[in-house]
Amino acid sequence: MIPDQFLDRTRGRISTFFGEGIVAHIPFAHPVCDALAGMAGDASDAAGARTHRGGTYVCMEGPQFSTLAESRLYRSWGMDVIGMTNLQEAKLAREAEICYATLALVTDYDCWHPDHDHVTVEMIVQNLLRNAETAQRVVRALVERLPADRACGCATALESAIITRPDAVPPETKRKLAPIVGKYLD
Ligand SMILES: [Zn+2]
Repeated sequence: MIPDQFLDRTRGRISTFFGEGIVAHIPFAHPVCDALAGMAGDASDAAGARTHRGGTYVCMEGPQFSTLAESRLYRSWGMDVIGMTNLQEAKLAREAEICYATLALVTDYDCWHPDHDHVTVEMIVQNLLRNAETAQRVVRALVERLPADRACGCATALESAIITRPDAVPPETKRKLAPIVGKYLD
């Protein structure tokens, strides 16, 4: 599955490059790069994988798996897949103006499905090994499809996102964030 939305159920994870004397609010209504996600879908098809394009990924804190009540709640909210990673990197990628998409290789039905066993580490590892082989084929097919130039908006996500005046940003913050914001603060 290639999600196009995320829901944050994490607590206190570092989710931004900003804050130390510089304020920025990037657009995040559409957290995934459409262009990259489309290419990932095509690559997945080409690799012969069963592909679901679009859907919402709920990112839970973990490390414990969901309770039955949580699992049912997420389904009632219309969530499609659940995991413990992905969301923070999507936010950081957008702030760094990097195109981002997720290949979500599903391992289990969490704990809500009456006809499937509840999720265990053993189940995840078995399916994960199978999924890893699929993922390698998809990534191989995806790399061939990547264009030399980007036509999406990811490359300019920060253009009108920085609120702090350049002369008010502390020098140390400027130095640390130079690879990301340098071109906007000069
Ligand atoms: Zn992009």
